[in-house]
Amino acid sequence: MKIINAPLLLRTAAITITIAASYSVAQGQVAPKGPEPATLKANAELAKTLPFANRQDFDDAMRGFVGTIPDALVPGTGPRPAWTMKPYDFLKQSEPADSVNPSLWRQAQLNAIHGLFKVTERVYQVRGFDISNMTIIEGDTSLIIIDVLLTTETARAALELYYQHRPKKPVGTVIYSHSHGDHFGGVKGVISEADVAAGKVQVLAPAGFLEAVAGENVMAGTAMSRRAQYQFGPLLPPGPRGYVDTGLGKKVAGGTITLIAPTGTIDKTMEKRVIDGVEIVFQLAPGSEAPSEMLMYFPQFRVLDMAEDVTHNMHNLYTIRGSEVRDGNLWSRYISEAMETFGDRSDVIIAQHHWPVAGQARVGALMKKQRDMYKFINDQSLRLLNLGYTPGEIAETLHMPASLEQEWSARGYYGTLRHNAKAVYQKYLGWYDANPADLDPLPPAENARKTVEYMGGADAVIARARGDFAKGEYRWVASAMNQVVFADPANRAARELGADALEQLGFQAEAATWRNAYLVGAMELRNGVPKILGNNTANADTLKALNNEMFFDFLGVRLNAAKAEGKTMVINWSFTDSNQRIALNLDNSALTYVAGKQAPNADATVTLARGTFDAVTLQRTTFPDAVKAGLVKIDGDPRKLDELMSMLDTFKVMFEVVEPKPSGQ
Ligand SMILES: [Zn+2]
Repeated sequence: MKIINAPLLLRTAAITITIAASYSVAQGQVAPKGPEPATLKANAELAKTLPFANRQDFDDAMRGFVGTIPDALVPGTGPRPAWTMKPYDFLKQSEPADSVNPSLWRQAQLNAIHGLFKVTERVYQVRGFDISNMTIIEGDTSLIIIDVLLTTETARAALELYYQHRPKKPVGTVIYSHSHGDHFGGVKGVISEADVAAGKVQVLAPAGFLEAVAGENVMAGTAMSRRAQYQFGPLLPPGPRGYVDTGLGKKVAGGTITLIAPTGTIDKTMEKRVIDGVEIVFQLAPGSEAPSEMLMYFPQFRVLDMAEDVTHNMHNLYTIRGSEVRDGNLWSRYISEAMETFGDRSDVIIAQHHWPVAGQARVGALMKKQRDMYKFINDQSLRLLNLGYTPGEIAETLHMPASLEQEWSARGYYGTLRHNAKAVYQKYLGWYDANPADLDPLPPAENARKTVEYMGGADAVIARARGDFAKGEYRWVASAMNQVVFADPANRAARELGADALEQLGFQAEAATWRNAYLVGAMELRNGVPKILGNNTANADTLKALNNEMFFDFLGVRLNAAKAEGKTMVINWSFTDSNQRIALNLDNSALTYVAGKQAPNADATVTLARGTFDAVTLQRTTFPDAVKAGLVKIDGDPRKLDELMSMLDTFKVMFEVVEPKPSGQ
């Protein structure tokens, strides 16, 4: 992937990570430790409560296996492969490592299976070549591909694998099931923009797709990218004491993320289309797992594709990388609607992650459990908040019913009951728990300094925390050491003990996302913030997806209020490609605009193509150079444009998380 030191951080995907991961512990870095007795005990006890003898998922995951390539190895553009299962050979051992939650170990084994699989006549899937699945439907004369993985490298390899075993029909249609990057980013690995422009290939997506792609993660993109490093752990070395899985799939692929805009959208739920002899019924599911998402039913094949709304784990009502919360009630209702509409006509259920389930009764059973799981989380969290419980109390109080507890597909490998319950609180009541002591507490570093002082100083706190660590009270020790570190980030003993506690929590976590977050936190407490650029990708494809309004919204986000203090300006923009006009106004350290208007009192009027503004944003050119090249025309005071650009922040990804920022807060 092209890594650009771009001022505009564009995260188009739920899971776009572009860190060049180092798979070995660098010199001078502290290596992971082993599991403590309390961790061994916790993992052993959990193992006793779950139905490990039930191996149905392994049979399902291998059903219809056609073939694969060794280690699913997909070369990248640099020395590092875009994808490989080789580092996960350690998962072949049937007994879980004692530093991995046994339930997560099982899921990580399932997610290590890779290859081309026949779902039913004319329906194939490539799985284990990225975090997500590619579904390939054989039309009469062409292929219909549902979702194209995250990167062009993995997508191309997946299609090549298919062609090794099946007739080489051209790709006639690409369907994006939803607006997350792992479902569209690899598109240019299977089709070209030229073929789309020439009308040889159509690209279909649910209504609101492009807006969701552009909008969902742009405004908070830099922070989300940094936080995604915690959720997905790209810098953790694979291994029993390191990285094992994401829960949803093995890993986030490396490589090139692209986007081709849809040539058509599905705007009406239950719309039927016949594409190259294949009948498809589209059920829209906006606001479920993604703002723009759709499910698909294939009557001829009796196959139901639930996109990402029914998978083999509890998904996220809130993602810990940061996202807007999702509506569990709505999610459940879409599953219910699909059951009512297609359930008794479906012999196989597939999804764009994990493996299919065959047999009408089993399809129904899986859907019912998933429907009820999201409804349960939503309703029970609301019940408890109406009883006055606060987020932490709800998370602690809520337990899944035994009937779901024993269901592998309802286990929290990606989402967790605890953080999803808090998401429901957040959706309905927001961040404030109504206790005025929490209304305006001191900020973290100041709070920590006072707390540690009241507790008798750092040494006293650490001494007591060592005792609690020995007793296995890792949640508390992590929290107490966090206070000491925020009071004094140079306190080595506190950092190490805090790291040790986080690490044990990671070894016990059933959710891969939590394990990753804990282990990344431990790594950064031990070694500091990684000395990598941690650049975001602002790729031209996705920048193009931002409409002008969103583009100017994001300029406003980048405005540095201190630099803008006391300044005013009005700039008219005239876009030659879209013919759109925008009047931009700076006043009171806020950028606002009116679309479709030119201000009569403007300091300057800038005439240009949007692509030129994109290029400036990507730092491929500057406005003065673009003016010289004749790409930009400025009427009025050209210095105003320079002044505006000089007031925009460039965000850096690698900010502090487990320690205070240098400013002290
Ligand atoms: Zn996905």
